[in-house]
Amino acid sequence: MKKKSHILLVEDEENLARVLLFNLEEEGYRVTWARDGRTGLESFDGRTIDLVILDLMLPYIDGFAVAETIRRQSAQIPILMLTARTGSDDRIRGLESGADDYLTKPFHLKELLLRVNGMLKRKSWYRQSETLKVTLKVGKCRVDFSDLTIRCDKRTLRLTHQEAELLHYFVEHKGRIISRRELLENVWHLHAQIDTRTVDNFVARLRKYFEPQPSRPIHFISVRGAGYLYNP
Ligand code: CA
Repeated sequence: MKKKSHILLVEDEENLARVLLFNLEEEGYRVTWARDGRTGLESFDGRTIDLVILDLMLPYIDGFAVAETIRRQSAQIPILMLTARTGSDDRIRGLESGADDYLTKPFHLKELLLRVNGMLKRKSWYRQSETLKVTLKVGKCRVDFSDLTIRCDKRTLRLTHQEAELLHYFVEHKGRIISRRELLENVWHLHAQIDTRTVDNFVARLRKYFEPQPSRPIHFISVRGAGYLYNP
């Protein structure tokens, strides 16, 4: 039998947490529930947890700080952030603190399950790519897919596996215009109608890593009304 994916759910709203717990277990996941940020960090173990669902507003330690701490321990663990606020600042700050994706409350349960499923697929994609040991050049930087490091001049950075999969997709389809929808389907494994700004946020992250001038991209180029074009 396939090993159950183990999800750490950090959520202080008891009613919501119980609904998520029940439904995630119904989907065949193993779930550990933590009621606050401190317990969430105590319960996190990068060797046994496959994915983290993390509420933003939490007692003791908020979701931003929890995500940053987890990210320092593990570059690869997928983090889905739940935010009650609608401000885009929180979403951007959430993504900057290390979350891979976010959902704004209230959300549809089905959408959360789709995202979780997509994020876990990406994790297994990373495991496969780990054995490929691919390195490649983007502009002046060298990317090593075996450990997801980027070396640019004297800097060494690490990609999350979601960033890595997006980059990999661009590389495989270089010189062709790729629509946001195509990226959502093939990189995020989402077929539902969701906010395509997620894609834009991630392209902005790649630009920050690789572009000499992120505001004037030469590698990850926007094509108005059509999508993106990657030019190594
Ligand atoms: Ca909360």
